[in-house]
Amino acid sequence: MIENFGTVYENVLQKDYTTYKLSGTIKKVIYPNSVQDLIKLLEYLNKEHLKHKIIGNGSNIIFKGNYDGIIVKLDKLNKININGEIIEVEAGYNLAKLAFKTANLGLSGLEFAAGIPGTIGGAIYMNAGAYQKEMRDIIVEALLLKENGELITFSNQNLNFGYRTSILKSKNLICLKATLKLCHGNKEDILTTIKNNQQKRLASQPLEYPSAGSVFRNPEGLCAGKLIEELNLKNVSVGDAVISDKHANFIINKGQATGSDVLKLINLVQEKVKQKYNIELICEQEIIE
Ligand SMILES: Cc1cc2nc3c(=O)[nH]c(=O)nc-3n(C[C@H](O)[C@H](O)[C@H](O)COP(=O)(O)OP(=O)(O)OC[C@H]3O[C@@H](n4cnc5c(N)ncnc54)[C@H](O)[C@@H]3O)c2cc1C
Repeated sequence: MIENFGTVYENVLQKDYTTYKLSGTIKKVIYPNSVQDLIKLLEYLNKEHLKHKIIGNGSNIIFKGNYDGIIVKLDKLNKININGEIIEVEAGYNLAKLAFKTANLGLSGLEFAAGIPGTIGGAIYMNAGAYQKEMRDIIVEALLLKENGELITFSNQNLNFGYRTSILKSKNLICLKATLKLCHGNKEDILTTIKNNQQKRLASQPLEYPSAGSVFRNPEGLCAGKLIEELNLKNVSVGDAVISDKHANFIINKGQATGSDVLKLINLVQEKVKQKYNIELICEQEIIE
């Protein structure tokens, strides 16, 4: 019984679990009570061959349709320990919250993350970044869980960080905890940097609508949004999924968009960009089937 490992909800709406606020359902969601319960839960789910997927804040995911498995949410894994410039934090801790918390302590390094609505685990998984900074710059090591239940600590170098990727993606590893190193700075300067970054986001991104941030990776030396804009694809829609007229690399949900609508729009953009420029745009967002 998965109820032994955390709080379970049945037949929930995807709109409450995705920043896209997708229409659709999820059969079950479980919030493990602790890292120990998460480990036991995953062991149980694997042993019983129960379909499942770990998510963080759902700010980089698209459900392909109704999800008939178990979504594992890490919100209760949010312990934190700050010791000078060293921070130990569990995977479910909110990244933007951590950026403000550390800024207010006069710790510099997470200014880039204040506008990224993910969790520590999700951010390490995809090496989240902005303004030429990324998770790679501040991670010392991460405690990971392998599929076979083995716990392993990987140093920054072993995490194989790349552009919006890490070893977690390729090797199906679960992040339980991370150690970050920030550096002492001037609190007012740190908060000003965050404020300036937020203003840049507000000016250039359609934050008034549900989305999951940038849809496509930037191809080497190019800007995905520019390519899409040059093809006059702004405002093109499938159902309520629409290419933003404020930022062409954002798909926004104007009401009842499903994951399938978003995916059709993604395919359409990929086809047009391939036809015109012979470039394969790679989707940055994770598709959950
Ligand atoms: C308005 C907006 C702005 C954004 N701006 C940026 C930006 O500037 N830069 C940027 O990089 N991203 C940005 N994003 C995208 C997103 O916030 C980041 O990718 C974030 O890191 C995703 O974290 P999450 O916890 O929401 O992960 P989720 O979306 O919940 O999951 C994403 C993937 O991570 C995996 N995952 C989650 N937790 C774990 C874990 N503990 N262990 C292993 N795998 C895990 C999931 O299985 C899934 O495959 C933005 C999104 C929005 C909505």
